[in-house]
Amino acid sequence: MRNHHSHLRILIAGRAGFLGSHLCERLFDEGHDIVCFDKFLTDTKESVAHLLGSPNFELIRHDVTSPLYVEVDEIYNLACPASPVNYQYDPVKTTKASGRGGINMLGLAKRTKAKIVQASISEVYGDPELHPQTESYVGHVKPTGRPSCYDEGKRCAETLFFGYRRQHRMDIKVACMFNIHGPPMHPNDGGVVSKFMVRVLRNEPNAILGDGTQTRSFCYVADLIDGVVGLMRMPSDITGPINLGNPENAQ
Ligand code: UDP
Repeated sequence: MRNHHSHLRILIAGRAGFLGSHLCERLFDEGHDIVCFDKFLTDTKESVAHLLGSPNFELIRHDVTSPLYVEVDEIYNLACPASPVNYQYDPVKTTKASGRGGINMLGLAKRTKAKIVQASISEVYGDPELHPQTESYVGHVKPTGRPSCYDEGKRCAETLFFGYRRQHRMDIKVACMFNIHGPPMHPNDGGVVSKFMVRVLRNEPNAILGDGTQTRSFCYVADLIDGVVGLMRMPSDITGPINLGNPENAQ
């Protein structure tokens, strides 16, 4: 087993998205060998163009719901559509990406003895009755609602991660991410930060919906990446789920 200061082979599943791009830059700059895949459904190859041709970078067009056989030391599983428009477009595929995709990435980690981090999301808490949500909160999800393809898929992936750990003693970790913002977020990602910023740029008024008491925990993307990479480097008895957000400015 290599230590974390050495040269690792790292798989990023779901590379082309917002988080995958940031994570890839960070790990590539540290000098690791990066293997990554994406099915390029919701994102283009533009963000990887500058890395193509590097001997430390390999890009595969691949769908996480199919098995993948590569040799790696660490896996970051980010492969799932993440904005409401994208994940509701094909709800069955969204659930498969987390469920079947989770099994494939865990099977790969099991065979290669790789450490694996699951990118989970605050949606696992559903429509929460508790603010801010703590890791001990069990959540409030309706399994038949429109967002459930995403919420329940991510919950199922967490179940699989802990099942594989109990059964196969694997080094798994779950990072639960809250509202992430920062460049180059998509103007139509459906989140409140991009909506407000777009309206400001267009000189349009910003409307506060409802009675304004709703809360969100905002996390800047560079801080989030610190948290995810830091979690991967924790000893094997630290599994999470760990919430990565900001209780200080939950508004
Ligand atoms: N798998 C994969 N890459 C690997 C090993 C496994 O994609 O290097 C996939 C494969 O589809 C397999 C799944 O992961 O079915 C689960 O693997 P596991 O060993 O847990 O289950 P089994 O093969 O016993 O069903």
